[in-house]
Formats: sequence, C-alpha cells, structure tokens
Amino acid sequence: MRGRRFPITMIGAMTQSAQPSRIHRLPTVLANQIAAGEVVERPASIVKELLENCLDAGASAINLEVERGGVGLIRVRDDGSGIHREDLGLALARHATSKVHTLEDLERVSSLGFRGEALPSIASVSRLLLTSRADAEDRGWQVVAEGGPPTGEPAPVPHPPGTTVEVRDLFYNTPARRKFLRSERTEFGHLHEVIKRIALSRFDTALRLRHDARSVLSLSPARDEAQRTRRLAAVCGADFVEKSLALEYSAMDMRLWGWVGDPSYSRSQADLQYFYLNGRLVRDKLVQHAVRQAYQDLIYHGRHPAYVLYLELDPSVADVNVHPTKQEVRFREARLVHDFIYRCVARALGTGAGADAGQATAVGWATGRAPAAHGPGRVGEAMRDYASLSGGAPAPDTVPGDTPALGRPLAVLEGGFLLARNAAGLVLVDLRAARERVTQRRLFAGLEEGSVRSQPLLVPLSLTVGQRRAALAEEHRELILSLGLELTRLGPTSVAVHRIPALLRGTDPAGLATSLLEALEEEIRGAESGNLGDALLESLAAQAGGNAAEDSPEHLDGLLREVERLQADPTRPLWVQMTPNDLAAYFRRESTGGNRAPGGEGRG
Ligand code: ADP
Ligand code: MG
Repeated sequence: MRGRRFPITMIGAMTQSAQPSRIHRLPTVLANQIAAGEVVERPASIVKELLENCLDAGASAINLEVERGGVGLIRVRDDGSGIHREDLGLALARHATSKVHTLEDLERVSSLGFRGEALPSIASVSRLLLTSRADAEDRGWQVVAEGGPPTGEPAPVPHPPGTTVEVRDLFYNTPARRKFLRSERTEFGHLHEVIKRIALSRFDTALRLRHDARSVLSLSPARDEAQRTRRLAAVCGADFVEKSLALEYSAMDMRLWGWVGDPSYSRSQADLQYFYLNGRLVRDKLVQHAVRQAYQDLIYHGRHPAYVLYLELDPSVADVNVHPTKQEVRFREARLVHDFIYRCVARALGTGAGADAGQATAVGWATGRAPAAHGPGRVGEAMRDYASLSGGAPAPDTVPGDTPALGRPLAVLEGGFLLARNAAGLVLVDLRAARERVTQRRLFAGLEEGSVRSQPLLVPLSLTVGQRRAALAEEHRELILSLGLELTRLGPTSVAVHRIPALLRGTDPAGLATSLLEALEEEIRGAESGNLGDALLESLAAQAGGNAAEDSPEHLDGLLREVERLQADPTRPLWVQMTPNDLAAYFRRESTGGNRAPGGEGRG
C-alpha cells in the first residue's frame, strides 16, 4: 500500500523543519505561492481575475481560449488600454497596481481588482506569457514568467492594441495543489459559470469562449432591450427568458431591474440566481432572503427561484470590500435595502405587499368567515391536499381549519372548469371567466400605476392585419403601449409585435394583437363615448380566458386566492358552492346528518 509510507516520511520531515525557526522573510516566490492559495484556487478563479483585469482596462471585446478545462491553457485577449512596456514587469510584481494610490481611493474603489495580487500569484504557479500593446505604442511587448518573476526584459512582438495573458500548465510546480483539481469537465463547468456571470454584468462587452477549439459562447455587445434579452437567453437559456418577468423600479435613490423567473420556473438548485450590486456580482444573505421572501408563498419548500437582478445605489450605502473574494457586502441601510428588494420582486410577481394595494374583500364566503391569510407553506399545503384528495377517498379532516374561502384546487375539468374543495364542501369555478376577470383586475392595477408591465418577445412577430388596423395601430401606439403591448407599423398592411403584457405571457401574441386591433376598430367605428382604454383592456383580458399555460396546482391555487378578492358581478357568476346538503338534495337524500351549511348558493 503506497499510501502508508507517505505520511510517515511526511511526519519525519515536519518534526525536523519544526525545530529551529527564527523569524525570516518569506522568499518572494513562496509568498506569491501562498497568496496564490487564496486568489488562485482553480482555473475558474484565474479566469475571473483575468477577465476583471480586461474589464478594468476598458475592454470592449474579450476572447477566451481554454484547453483541457483550463488546466492546459487559458488565453485571454482584450482590446483594452494595454500595459506600457516599462510596466510589464511591475504588473507581475506583488502589490503592484495601477488602480489604487491612496486610502481615499480605496474608499470609493470602482474597479474590480485593486489588490495587485492576481498576476504575480498566477505567475507563481504556472507558465505565463504577458503580451501587451498600450495605446501609445506601435507594437506589442512580451514578458515570460515560469513559476516566478519575469525571466527577462520585455521582447517586441506583433500584437494589436490591448493585452493577451496566456496561462499554461497550471500548478505544474505545486503538485499538492494540482491534486485538488477535479475533472476537466468539472473545472470547465466552474470556468463557464464565471464567464456567464460576467456576461450578465457587462452587456456592452463582446465575449467569446472557445474550449478545446470548440466555440462555446459568442456574445456580441447588447445595447438595446432586445439584444439584452437575447444575451440573457444565450446565457440562462431561452426557457428562463420565456418564463421570466422583466422588472424595473426605483425609489429612494435605489434602482432595481432585471428578470425574475415566474414561480413555475423554480429550480431544484439555487443555480440561476444572479444578483449584481452596482455591476458587481454579490452573494449576500440579506439579498437572498429578500428575494426568497417575495416568492415564499409561490414555490414549493426546497425549490429555488431563478433571477437575474441588478441593484444600483450610492456606493457609500454599501460596503463592498468586506470579503477577499468580494462576493459579500455590508449594507449600511440593511433594512431599507431588504424591503426595497422584497417589494420590487413581490410586485413583479403580483404578490404580497406589492399587489395588495387594494382592499381584499371576502366575496361569496359561504360560511361567513374571512379568507385566511396566506401563511408560509401555502402551496405545499395545497399540494398535500391535492395529492391526498385526488388519490383516494377524501376524509373531512384533510381540510385544515384555515382553508381559504374558495378552498384548494382538486381538478380541472374539461370545458374549463375547476373543482375545488373548501370548508363548506365543493366549489366549481368557471376557469375562463375567472382568468379573464383576474387578468382584467391585474391590467387595471398596472394601468393605475402608469402603464402595464410588458415583456419583450425573443423575436418580434410580424403580422398582416389590413390597412385600416395597421394605421390605427400607428395612431394609437402610445395608448396600446400603456397596456403593455408594443406594436410598430411594418408596412401598409402589417405590424410587428415587440412586447406583450408580462402577465399575459403564454398567450399567443398574434391573438393578443389581433383581438386588440379588432376592438380598437370597433370602438372607433362605433364612436361610442365609452373609455377606449377600458375596451382595449377587456379585449386583452379576454385572450387570457383560454390560456391554460398556467394550470399547475400552484397557479390554480393563486388564481383562487385572487378570485376571492374580486367584487361579485351578479350578471356573471364565477363560481358556485356545493355543500353536502346541496348534494344530498341533488340525490334526494333525506338528510346528511351533518351541520346545515349556511347559504346554499354561491355568489361570485
Ligand atoms: P490588480 O488588478 O488588483 O491591480 P493584477 O495583478 O490583477 O492586480 O494586475 C496588476 C496590474 O496589471 C493592474 O493594476 C493593471 O495595471 C495591469 N493589468 C493587468 N491586466 C491587464 C489588462 N488586461 N489590461 C491592462 N492592464 C492590465
Ligand atoms: Mg486584477
């Protein structure tokens, strides 16, 4: 057994070297290698440092080439400001940086790196080539380092303006560290993740990644919203983009924007959670808690929300230089920041403090009790009922005491009906009508805040609608936009759909546009003096009726909660209550033997 001998010799070696020790300075290379232990853990950490240097140098395009998961080669080229010939050696020396000069600089540091540790650390554990051409120079200069300081003076080489750092044979001289590397695939996975994070933080920077001569990522600069959405899809997947809500809010000198996944997109791991504070990725408990809380009633216990969010605030309110890997922050106004994030996300999701602006009145509550508050675990609880009730004979005590007015969903019936169970018995809901009314209410709420939140389509959709309607679309562009639909005229008879109301995602964009233009034409032809906006809004809401995209139990549960809050419309009931007595009467039974539930008829 080989392993046996090894520890024994190790111990021997240790007792020897533990003997004398007077204080002495660490040789530079050793100091750098020790520092490398902190900065350079694996290929991904090298890539992170190198990319940050590119960005600090103002690069607008970055090319990465990687071999064997980054262990064989990492080559990063940028078109940034470059390094002057005389500074090349210095760039590889410890605590040499161009970014911080004084203590005051450190207070308001805005560059990503500033410790001057990365390059010397990397050079101490690899074979490194640093080639650069500064703006003012007419050619590039190169220095070479092999596990230590540069081996000689800079040599001239052809190079475009900018910098290339090439790192080969990582940990070739520190075998103990090399042992900690995982498989090339795993290492590449980490490295890829680092690149994704940066891709999402710098939309204006072009990024290309090749691994073992295969193109993995190729991102052009994203300047408008459509391009940003495309980059988001390239990095996080088209699925996320489709199932996410775009948001943007500002208040009290803070701005939060980005995308949050809708609850149906929850994940089994917290692997799609990007939060940027003033452009810098942070992993922060306070932030995570705030977002989590906004989702609390919407996703199962043990599932994780997905989000890409950007918080911008005055740097003096946050302390970014807390942790060496710079992912944790300290907020001076923690409570304020927490509440702001929570409110914004809750509002985007249409829940919690954000959506509850109006009073929630109990309507049609058969037993006269007020609807229960939505406590944590609401969905989980609904699911438990759902599973137990759909699986076997329902026992009366499976409905907990705080069942909300319209109860928990049991089943969706053909024809667009929902069967639910509440404390008084069964509830039958007209799903179409319910979706329409709830959508109407949400659209109204959006309008009252200025305009309805919209979401861009991944690819704009062109639509032939006829001359009259195309002209109307153009003429009433602003009004239509306030409803969350963006239409532009493409030609004499055609329009393009660019955005749809976020809360109508899942419905057919062509259907939305057509129905809206139809209503518009009708209203204008009829010259009715009714509110044009209302008519258009209803035409949009009508499209939601048939949208079965959100028929998961948790969505249906959410829908029931919203129906509970609607004002009753006597001309069009949304649901009926069926008590055991009603059923007994239906079957012409003598008596149920139980309590008579008050109010046999439901109103909705
Ligand atoms: P830090 O980034 O903390 O200053 P580094 O060791 O990462 O320390 O880099 C040392 C210095 O080398 C930087 O301050 C910068 O002046 C220069 N440098 C490194 N990479 C680049 C690059 N891609 N373009 C321009 N200058 C660079
Ligand atoms: Mg750096």
